[in-house]
Amino acid sequence: MLILVINCGSSSAKYQLFDIKKNRSLAKGVVERIGQPGSSLHHQLDGKDFGTKKVSCENHHTAIEIIVSILTDKHHGAIASTSQIDGIGHRVVHGGEEFRESTLITEKVIRSVEKYSELAPLHNPPSLSGIKACSKILKGIPQVAVFDTSFHQTMPQEAFLYGLPFKYYTKYGIRRYGFHGTSHRFVSEKAAKVLRRPLKSLKLITCHLGNGCSMTAVSGGRSVDTSMGFTPLEGLVMGTRSGDLDPAVVLYILEKEGLTLAAVNDLLNKESGLLGVSGVGNDMRDILKGAKRKTQSAKRCRFAIEIFVYRIKKYIGAYQAAMGGLDAVIFTAGIGENNPWIMKRVAAELKGVVGGKTKFLIIPTNEELLIARDTYGIIKKM
Ligand code: ADP
Repeated sequence: MLILVINCGSSSAKYQLFDIKKNRSLAKGVVERIGQPGSSLHHQLDGKDFGTKKVSCENHHTAIEIIVSILTDKHHGAIASTSQIDGIGHRVVHGGEEFRESTLITEKVIRSVEKYSELAPLHNPPSLSGIKACSKILKGIPQVAVFDTSFHQTMPQEAFLYGLPFKYYTKYGIRRYGFHGTSHRFVSEKAAKVLRRPLKSLKLITCHLGNGCSMTAVSGGRSVDTSMGFTPLEGLVMGTRSGDLDPAVVLYILEKEGLTLAAVNDLLNKESGLLGVSGVGNDMRDILKGAKRKTQSAKRCRFAIEIFVYRIKKYIGAYQAAMGGLDAVIFTAGIGENNPWIMKRVAAELKGVVGGKTKFLIIPTNEELLIARDTYGIIKKM
């Protein structure tokens, strides 16, 4: 049973082919710089890396053609024909309030995802392009949408409503949606296995610390609060996003600097966070190195690290209070998985707060595998 997972971003299309019954990844890769000069394909087969080669790729339709052609390539491919693919799972960022779980893609689902493009203008349109390209190029193979937002649809109203006039919720759907849901769900399910306890009995906090960072309070396997909000800008300090901010700061900067709305949007999403504070870059590795140097910039690197760690601690306290207890805190994604120092520091500083029984664990995330599993779960019932 072969499942192809597709994750289309604005200028990239990641893919991974799974033999789902064996829980095994057969091939994976990414087409990058779609629609830009210098498009490339990076492909791996059975763990063997074939490096990056130049391709001509003007849009997501061409990207899917490139993916299909490499997967069925005589020398580098994993399959002889696309008829071997049983299902396709797509990562879709925004499913609004409508999608509480993964779903078989139909015309109606496509129309809904189109509708939620208004809430995720950078993310939903490329996913839709990928879905539409697959329906043409891989005709007849069932497709499933797995949403970043759906895991968080269990949040209670007090966690997802903002203190704004209520009409903006009903009129525009302004509320906390939360993101990275597939990752939070994957690591919380894995944590239950590691802890050898039923997920239903556990109070967990999952910390997805990659380029984008978010934390989720998972009680009994359900997301009850999460740090990202209406967009992925809220919450923790991230690579280039500010995270939590007094909204008046935005108005003040707008007035003082005479910026356009687009420029403020870039400022908050692309020029802030670890990059903005450190002045060195958005990569935690560079900032950790920078903090050790004896230069002027070392101080700002240290500020960036301190703000990053402090906010994680603050959210752990808040979510422990929200759940009325805490069994384990899970660290995952690029920073969470590769830098145990951050977890150890948070654990040491919270020792007297969380209680001796609370475990701190690193669990690697695997969003693609969960997308493949969900896809299999849906298509096997067809
Ligand atoms: P994305 O959100 O793009 O999927 P990842 O989960 O791959 O990101 O995380 C990327 C980030 O992980 C990098 O920007 C870098 O800051 C961080 N990272 C990777 N390896 C390490 C490491 N050894 N130590 C600290 N940070 C790391």
